[in-house]
Amino acid sequence: MAKDKKEMISDLIGYLEYLKESGISFLPSLKKRKVQALEEIWRELIDCQRCKLHRSRSRIVFGEGNEDAKLMLIGEGPGYDEDLQGRPFVGKAGQLLTRILQSVQIERKEVYITNIVKCRPPGNRTPEPEEIKSCFPFLLKQIQIIQPRVICALGTVSAQTLLQTDTKITSLRGKSFDFSGIKVFPTYHPAFLLRNPDKKREVWEDIQKVAKALREGGE
Ligand code: SF4
Repeated sequence: MAKDKKEMISDLIGYLEYLKESGISFLPSLKKRKVQALEEIWRELIDCQRCKLHRSRSRIVFGEGNEDAKLMLIGEGPGYDEDLQGRPFVGKAGQLLTRILQSVQIERKEVYITNIVKCRPPGNRTPEPEEIKSCFPFLLKQIQIIQPRVICALGTVSAQTLLQTDTKITSLRGKSFDFSGIKVFPTYHPAFLLRNPDKKREVWEDIQKVAKALREGGE
């Protein structure tokens, strides 16, 4: 008797699993292609001197996380610890960010984290418009490759740059915006939150909205 469609699909899945276990792969997975594409950008940035931030950096902080992330978190720029380690959000603000994510059952390994500028501004000053302009195209490429459903913009610089606005973060947070079909939720930067713990409630409300948008498929 002819097999029905369900049985045929089940057989096919079984066969593909057998091939996978045998180490046979025909096509590079989407994830693998994303990793390769991100590596290409990373190579473009090695020894980048497109803006004056290169003079004071120890390392470029490219970004890290899940290349297939549904959620991207974008901060302003690397701080002291990030500059030393070459990784984003690893200092006290980074630890707070991890806890904020965990409060809505999101693990860091699920998300992709990066910054508007990839080199630390001296003394953690705000990146200048020319520096942002030089570095922003690389962030755009990262977003295009990862294709998150939701972006959480951490802090004034991130939110204003992504949304191309001068509006203050106090007015932007709590709302969502469209960025080429991706939902953007601005909120306070965790470093600001460390200095202003009274803002915890607002950030908690914002991250709840992020989690809800992810659950609903970014709608
Ligand atoms: S901040 Fe960006 S554009 Fe400027 S030097 Fe670093 S990587 Fe290059």
